[in-house]
Amino acid sequence: MNTRIVFIGAGPAGVSAVETLRLHDRHSSVIMLSTEPYPPYSPPAMVDHFITGSGAHLWRGTDWPIHMEVDYRPGVVAAAVRPESHQVQLGNGQAIEYDQLVIATGSRLHAPLEGVDLPGIYNFKSLSAAEALIGRVKSGQARTALIVGAGFIGMEIALLLCELGVKVVQIEMLDQVMPAMLDAHTAAFALQAMRQRGVDVRLNTKAQAFVGNGDATGVQLESGEVLEADILIAATGVRPNLDFLAGSEIAHRWGVTVDDRLRTSIPDIYAAGDCIETSDRLTGDIYVHAILPNAIEQGKVVALNLLGYDTVYEGAERMNSLKHLGLPIIAVGLKQGDEVLRARVDGGWRTLYLQENRLLGFQLIGDIRAAGALRTLLNRHEDIRRIKDRMLEPTFGQGSLVWQAIVSYP
Ligand SMILES: Cc1cc2nc3c(=O)[nH]c(=O)nc-3n(C[C@H](O)[C@H](O)[C@H](O)COP(=O)(O)OP(=O)(O)OC[C@H]3O[C@@H](n4cnc5c(N)ncnc54)[C@H](O)[C@@H]3O)c2cc1C
Repeated sequence: MNTRIVFIGAGPAGVSAVETLRLHDRHSSVIMLSTEPYPPYSPPAMVDHFITGSGAHLWRGTDWPIHMEVDYRPGVVAAAVRPESHQVQLGNGQAIEYDQLVIATGSRLHAPLEGVDLPGIYNFKSLSAAEALIGRVKSGQARTALIVGAGFIGMEIALLLCELGVKVVQIEMLDQVMPAMLDAHTAAFALQAMRQRGVDVRLNTKAQAFVGNGDATGVQLESGEVLEADILIAATGVRPNLDFLAGSEIAHRWGVTVDDRLRTSIPDIYAAGDCIETSDRLTGDIYVHAILPNAIEQGKVVALNLLGYDTVYEGAERMNSLKHLGLPIIAVGLKQGDEVLRARVDGGWRTLYLQENRLLGFQLIGDIRAAGALRTLLNRHEDIRRIKDRMLEPTFGQGSLVWQAIVSYP
């Protein structure tokens, strides 16, 4: 009898797992559930989709389930997992059986603010949520917007709304934009570019509650002041979608707990993507690393283990980029070290963070072509003392053969 593999979630982690599986196995029967009413899509492409109207990068292909021979079930929610009977309980009251299960439920908005359940608060965490927000803008009902949070999703929404002609105020409780990833130098650049684009970014401004009589109409700040706007958007962070695990004995904390093969605490159940806690490949810290490249890589590792190739996950990366600022920005790894190298490169900046002659992190503004080479040096923990000076040169990393020769030369 064919093995039946059930995937809960059709985001990049689930999609990458199925595509890897199908490279080796066309026999297993695969069922994939998604709360979304759409075929699989790529969340990072949503902003471009709404700016250009093109779905070219958004969709994995409406015929993806056919190509992949997947029984794809959009709009079907997993309500509970019953490992003792190898069953997933669905929101519609039915149950499906599995031989192997993959949890790839991703993340949702995390907004620990009073009044967040009032109607009229929008977010951009899924295509459904984004459609509701953009639908309101396109119907002419939202000329002004207030965004709470200047992390990378908040920044992307602000730039998109500006592009659509909305007057945007964005508040951030800390003293810089994208505080989790950008160093103060790069963040100052991003802030200046945001303001030049017309976004009214206010730092050191903490929201306390969404307020309104019926629908939400404004945000009360810690100072007591209330800011109002036609449309209110929460971009305060994300948290794993794990409600359906309550009472299942599948170990989880902030995210699902997995081992280095991405197996959960229960046999035959794997997990990948924004819903899991994994170790950071640089520091070994365990936490949820909610970015696309990690989700894709974890999906591959899960598939290989399902296939029986004993495959270790090497750990998650820290990385983020901003595409819609007018000048590209990319930040990788840590923003600290015992040595900091910084130089102007072709009108932008390159900052490198080193520890004992090893690259710990880097931030590039403008010309980001060195990112690939730098990322490889970082992940390989290369001793870079002989090439340190050259790493700030504009041409460094542009021609992989050249830098590989430099690095591997004894
Ligand atoms: C606007 C935006 C821009 C981004 N830009 C970038 C970027 O530039 N670079 C980057 O690295 N990352 C970016 N990210 C983050 C990246 O999109 C995520 O890390 C990635 O999507 C995680 O993939 P995933 O499959 O784990 O989860 P998700 O993409 O969240 O997918 C989860 C899937 O699970 C389904 N699901 C959830 N709960 C259930 C349930 N109970 N039953 C059934 N199905 C369920 C959902 O419907 C969905 O199909 C961005 C995210 C957003 C929102």
